[in-house]
Amino acid sequence: MKNYLILPAVLLSITIGHSQKNKNAYELASPNGQNKIKFELVKNAPKYGVSHGKTEVISSSEMGFLLKGNEDLSTNFEIKGAKTSTFDETWEQAWGEKKNIRNHYNQLVVDLQQKTGNKRKLQIQFRAFDDGVAFRYVYPKQNVKDSIFIMDEKTTFNLKEDGKAWWIPANRPDRDEYLFKEAAVSTLDTVLTPLTIESKSGLSLSFHEANLYDFASMTLVNNKGTELKSDLVPWADGVKVRVKDTFTSSWRTIQIGENPGELITSYLILNLNEPDKLKNTASYFKPYKYLGIWWGMHIGKYTFWESDKQGATTKHAEEYIDFTAKEGFNHLLIEGWNKGWTPAWYENRMHMFSFTKSADNFDLEKVVAYGKSKNIELIGYHETGSNLINYLKEVDEGFALYKKLGIHTVKIGHVGSKLNMKQMHFGQFGVNYFRYILEKAAQYDLAVLYHESIKDTGERRTFPNMVSREAARGQEYNAWSEGNPPNHLSIIPFTRLLSGPMDFTPGIFDVEVKQGYPGKRIQGTVGQQLALYVVLYSPIQMLADLPENYEGKPALQFLKDVPTDWEDTKIIEGKIGEYITTARKDRNSADWYLGTLTNENPRKVDVSLSFLDPNATYEAQIYVDAEGTNQKNNPEAVAISKKTVKASDKLQLNLGGAGGGVVRFKKL
Ligand code: CA
Repeated sequence: MKNYLILPAVLLSITIGHSQKNKNAYELASPNGQNKIKFELVKNAPKYGVSHGKTEVISSSEMGFLLKGNEDLSTNFEIKGAKTSTFDETWEQAWGEKKNIRNHYNQLVVDLQQKTGNKRKLQIQFRAFDDGVAFRYVYPKQNVKDSIFIMDEKTTFNLKEDGKAWWIPANRPDRDEYLFKEAAVSTLDTVLTPLTIESKSGLSLSFHEANLYDFASMTLVNNKGTELKSDLVPWADGVKVRVKDTFTSSWRTIQIGENPGELITSYLILNLNEPDKLKNTASYFKPYKYLGIWWGMHIGKYTFWESDKQGATTKHAEEYIDFTAKEGFNHLLIEGWNKGWTPAWYENRMHMFSFTKSADNFDLEKVVAYGKSKNIELIGYHETGSNLINYLKEVDEGFALYKKLGIHTVKIGHVGSKLNMKQMHFGQFGVNYFRYILEKAAQYDLAVLYHESIKDTGERRTFPNMVSREAARGQEYNAWSEGNPPNHLSIIPFTRLLSGPMDFTPGIFDVEVKQGYPGKRIQGTVGQQLALYVVLYSPIQMLADLPENYEGKPALQFLKDVPTDWEDTKIIEGKIGEYITTARKDRNSADWYLGTLTNENPRKVDVSLSFLDPNATYEAQIYVDAEGTNQKNNPEAVAISKKTVKASDKLQLNLGGAGGGVVRFKKL
């Protein structure tokens, strides 16, 4: 429980009630005064704008909703009250990329009411932080009694100027598993968030949402010019959100940085989620690394289903447990352990997986007991195939089985274009499903790893059993598709990873995948694979390759050493789609780790070590692409060296094309 002691919070809450009559405009500034939100009622319609320093970021933009029967909840308003306040506290993450996080903002809450008709009330809450701004809608209980059907959200983000956006499409069959493309904001169609933009005047912006619950996910559609509009993901019948009598939207967030690295070290999304509700997750979850019977299925060496090549047999499981234990790791994922898998398991249909019955060649109790004898805990696996009718019938029994066996993490997959062949993953139905399962898992002391899920909106602050998720195009695409191009890994730290931890499943050492499908491989070097453990944050990191590909490889030492829980994170440098260099300090030692990777272009990295303790000396254990190595030539060659360094030193690393490197700074 020690990890859960709340730091003494500095709490300054000043509330000033505004009662000026006829005041129709308010300005809210962030604590350092740099970010400003202007709110005003223009012809009875709420409008907002955002600026950073002297730069106008969002010009006057619309707010509100369209309800059933064409009822307009975006105009005909008067201001009934407005309150400002300040909040400042530092809270401790249960686990994470940074231990202590400061939550410091100024808030403006505006109460609106329509002047005629149903006289509906709508509250808008604004928060201005030094790293961005946010607002949300609260629809309180009111006199008119009706169920609420939101048919559209009218919120716009009217960007003052064009910029470059890194985007993936919304509402597509492969959910969010698409390659990011770079295009002008003015040319976008409908895109998912987080949406990262570099504005013409050089600001780095990220549009996303925080604390999404009982509402539809927000996607963004280009209205005209550089004006983006919230486009809520609908139910199958076209309704966007349906609630009984009240609603609270997720926070609409705009993170603002003066360089793209500042977006990564912004904790605004977490700060907009509620504090830890569970309190006991440290008793069953601590960050870890894991191996798995998994890559073998993706490269075609094994099958998920029962066959003479089935991956999840008792025999394979025992061999993997032996290897995992021998190399000093403690967790193993086994997919395809249960009944219900067929060669067509990934096709769009209502598959019937069992969550309690093992495959004939797999003895779950025996494997768990064998694992325990070697100090290896299994990671449970539930593939729903998006058949939630089936899953929700069995989930309690499935979770109870894991609890009985002492399993504390469950990976839950949702392969399929629509939930129950009907609802989009990102709609209100899916949003509520993913929250329901998360809360249920907590009742069984289970940490959750979602695949094919909705996007992260910072839930891990409130529910620290929400440990990681896929929610993007991960390593598996390298096994059976045209693969992820080399720049994918220098884009996702600035886009997908802004929403939260990702289970990318790094660590393929046989990057040419010699046992896989002809022509399929990782388009990068082993040095780049190593860098992912530092660059892509997740509290659980897989060693995704087959055991035989790690056997006897000196670079495996780095995967043994690298932590998955950090005290601090610094982005040393980064250019979206080109390169990134990240340094993180271990939460449980005095050591720092650095990861750097590049796109298809080779790169000389010059790193100032000023992030190190100035009063200490470190042994730098360096693993980097060997000379002449790139994705095409000798991609597996890693040069390993050691040298003594201090904070006043500089370190140079030479990366090959699609290459990378890592350094452990061991305090001497
Ligand atoms: Ca997937």
